[in-house]
Amino acid sequence: MRLKLLSVLLTAGLATSLPANAFDLGNIDLNKVGSLLKDATEATRDVSESEEIKIGQELASTLLGASPLRKNAEEQRYVNLVGRYLASQTERPNLPWHFGVIDNMNINAFAAPGGYVFVTEGLMRQLHSEAELAGVLAHEIAHVLKKHHLHAIQKAAGTNMLADVAALAAKSDQQDKVSKIFNLGRDLYMRGLDKDDEFEADRIGVVIAARAGYDPFGLPAVMQTLETLNPKDSSLALLFKTHPLPGARIEALDKAMGTRFDQDADKPTLASRFRKMG
Ligand SMILES: [Zn+2]
Repeated sequence: MRLKLLSVLLTAGLATSLPANAFDLGNIDLNKVGSLLKDATEATRDVSESEEIKIGQELASTLLGASPLRKNAEEQRYVNLVGRYLASQTERPNLPWHFGVIDNMNINAFAAPGGYVFVTEGLMRQLHSEAELAGVLAHEIAHVLKKHHLHAIQKAAGTNMLADVAALAAKSDQQDKVSKIFNLGRDLYMRGLDKDDEFEADRIGVVIAARAGYDPFGLPAVMQTLETLNPKDSSLALLFKTHPLPGARIEALDKAMGTRFDQDADKPTLASRFRKMG
């Protein structure tokens, strides 16, 4: 995984104290890039899977440029083990899935197209079991499966230009221009997805976790924890800005889950295995 490109995208999201000018990418002319891309986008088309992966890679690199992975190889291995097992139970098992814990004390998790999923150290510290971790990862996996971020960026672009951004990104001399487009991605991570996408990711996440053999109540349990925290805590600011509040998510999940998962109440939470990673 490349870690160096586009070091601005998520800076504000991950470190809200940074000054606004941390976003300044220099003086690339956005209009020029726009018209350049527009020429190539007369015929709209879907973004191919390899393009989706390329776009996700750029966004993930940016994310990690702002907040790098924690230097704890054992923990990273563990999170990848859990995440890749969950992903293997989905309809897109062959994406190049990458999971990581990022060195940031805000409480949050992120996904980028193509199979990138990150959890902050701040969120890891709020978890009590592997089933809870699985619930969080599965929510993010669901965003990737449903291409929520990809579609949102595409919508924000106003055209189907993403595919062409990916094509241009393959040419190294266009890299700088292309990086501007990823401002759309930055804005998206700051603003958040549609609430419906979040509720959908919760519902799918629960199903993925259950399919992988975990207690499906891991994700609701995490939300219960979040509900007990002080909502004014700055470490929760971005999460609460970009997601429905935990109470609303619990209520929606409660409705969706109904009695469907009751027979699974004896599924493992693997709390002791999780604690060893702390
Ligand atoms: Zn989400």
